[in-house]
Amino acid sequence: MNGDGQQPIVSASNLRKKFAAPWGSGSAPVKAVDGVNIHVARGETLGLVGESGSGKSTLGRLLLRLLEPDTGSIVFEGSNLTRMSSWRLRRLRPRMQIVFQNPYSALNPRMRVHQIIGFNLSAARLSGVNRRARVAEVLKLVGLDRDILGRYPHQLSGGQAQRVGIARALVSSPTFLVADEPLSALDLSVQAEILNLFGDLQERLNLACLFISHNLQVVRHVAHRVAVMYEGRIVELGSRDAVYEDPLHPYTRLLLSAIPTGARSSDIAGARATRQRLKDELRELGPETDLREVRPGHSVALSSIRVDTPRPIALAQE
Ligand code: ADP
Ligand code: MG
Repeated sequence: MNGDGQQPIVSASNLRKKFAAPWGSGSAPVKAVDGVNIHVARGETLGLVGESGSGKSTLGRLLLRLLEPDTGSIVFEGSNLTRMSSWRLRRLRPRMQIVFQNPYSALNPRMRVHQIIGFNLSAARLSGVNRRARVAEVLKLVGLDRDILGRYPHQLSGGQAQRVGIARALVSSPTFLVADEPLSALDLSVQAEILNLFGDLQERLNLACLFISHNLQVVRHVAHRVAVMYEGRIVELGSRDAVYEDPLHPYTRLLLSAIPTGARSSDIAGARATRQRLKDELRELGPETDLREVRPGHSVALSSIRVDTPRPIALAQE
């Protein structure tokens, strides 16, 4: 099922967010999100990929208005979020939720699982019986047994804790879910389970989901469309098949090549050299532009594209 073409649940235009550089560094402010236009439709999972520091979490938080944008607007289910009073925003909160990377730090250590999951129902004015029924329902949805309801977060495995985090987000029947690197803190064996759970949920609930990951292979499993973020901008956007089978932007190709580029790489000098080559190649391709559709459903932020460049590009041939 592809949500593209449906009425968007959330859409943002020209979003920008700067952060001051660390005090005393003398550096210019960081443009964490630098002019992003994006939408997510009902029933659609939009994958947001890019290396660490590219602005993914900032964008996810802006879309939920957990952060205030410097400029730009966000429309959620037809209402302009950016101009909304805090009272109205609070009423909408149950409909837009987030799942965080680290389930343990995201769950209140002093609350039992039933309290954690039930917390988001407090605004829903349900009776005790209905509340318990809804918590039980959502527990089943995320594949947990009732016997964990009385436990505290530290008594849960990583996979269980993340399922609780997902249950907490889903209990209020949101229409929009941001999943911010929901697998990255988990053991490899558990990652596959949680990824499958996202696949299941996508089929059962008609959610609009922004699924954030630095790992393109993860996103490939769940996303209908993919947005590639580089230095605060979306540089490529298209259907999953378009982006994976015919990546147009040098940065997307670099990510797909699995050559380390980030600060976490063990070969820092190599990663720096790769980045420099990327910058050189981008300079050769001309000035930065907005995203433009170069094929139906496939957009790239380049003024010229080398359609006939053999893949993988030179960068990847080390
Ligand atoms: P990602 O999620 O892709 O790793 P982030 O959105 O977390 O990227 O960060 C994008 C950039 O904004 C980074 O340079 C980061 O250091 C900076 N940044 C993010 N949040 C803050 C903050 N609260 N204060 C200052 N800088 C921030
Ligand atoms: Mg992040």
